[in-house]
Amino acid sequence: MKLEGIHHITAITADAQHNVDFYAGVLGLRLVKKTVNQDATSVYHLFYADERGDPGSDITFFEFPGARRGRAGAGMVHRIVWRVAAAEALDFWSDRLRQAGYEAERDGQSLRFEDFEGLGHELLVVRTDDDPLIANHPEIPAELALQGFHAVRAYAEDPAQSRALLEDTLGFAPHGDGWEARGEIRGGLYAYDPSPPQRGLQGAGTVHHVAWASTPAEHESWRERVVSAGAHPTPVIDRFYFRSIYFREPSGVLFEIATIGPGFTIDEPLEHLGEKLSLPPAFEHLRDQVEPTLTPLENPRESWTTR
Ligand code: ZN
Repeated sequence: MKLEGIHHITAITADAQHNVDFYAGVLGLRLVKKTVNQDATSVYHLFYADERGDPGSDITFFEFPGARRGRAGAGMVHRIVWRVAAAEALDFWSDRLRQAGYEAERDGQSLRFEDFEGLGHELLVVRTDDDPLIANHPEIPAELALQGFHAVRAYAEDPAQSRALLEDTLGFAPHGDGWEARGEIRGGLYAYDPSPPQRGLQGAGTVHHVAWASTPAEHESWRERVVSAGAHPTPVIDRFYFRSIYFREPSGVLFEIATIGPGFTIDEPLEHLGEKLSLPPAFEHLRDQVEPTLTPLENPRESWTTR
């Protein structure tokens, strides 16, 4: 039983429209699902991914309008690492980000920057046989586009305390300065950096949790394994687009294990993903109440004339 790398990463934003402008507009990801936070249905949950909405490329945001800016500290993910194909992509992104008003720092095969709320990103040139998970964008040549997640980096005081859970329970293999979760389709990395002195603050621009990908058939078994390791996972929660369990790993980072599928085409066709407000059946009765309170979002895709 192996986890298939990173399934999705969920972060917090205070401004859904600005978030769409950055992730769909500047970074060129596809908004693949516009729905509400199932645990706080008055606010958006936005999902961006590659063209098909694949796990491995899916960054999601809870919108808490007006939320104060957070900061990553011990027990929190502080950087999301994306794959790109070659150094030319770093040149391209450095220019594109600068034109959009974002400074990026180049370091060899890597380019680091923050989004408008301080969420840390890194583009890394990675040689891999994993499928590139790419979204279409008229201004971004496919060979230069983001190709999905490579890693998340978290802050921890004492990473050694997570080793047993990561290696013995979750099957992560030591890799570079961290670990790799690699299944039959895809791999994703997890690594720690020394914590900054200040305590972390959950808020806008911080990561809420990272989800690792499981086949649907193995999902229950993963939960049993996590229980046997003495961690305390939630029951399996049906998120409609996937099923999930959540637990904290010993360094404090909130982990989720989510199923690959059913996926985002369960309630809208591939060509129209993310265009309308999607409410899973259990939440559909709230539509009349919820839809008028959500600020309408402008998706840059709507302005593309030809594809
Ligand atoms: Zn999640």
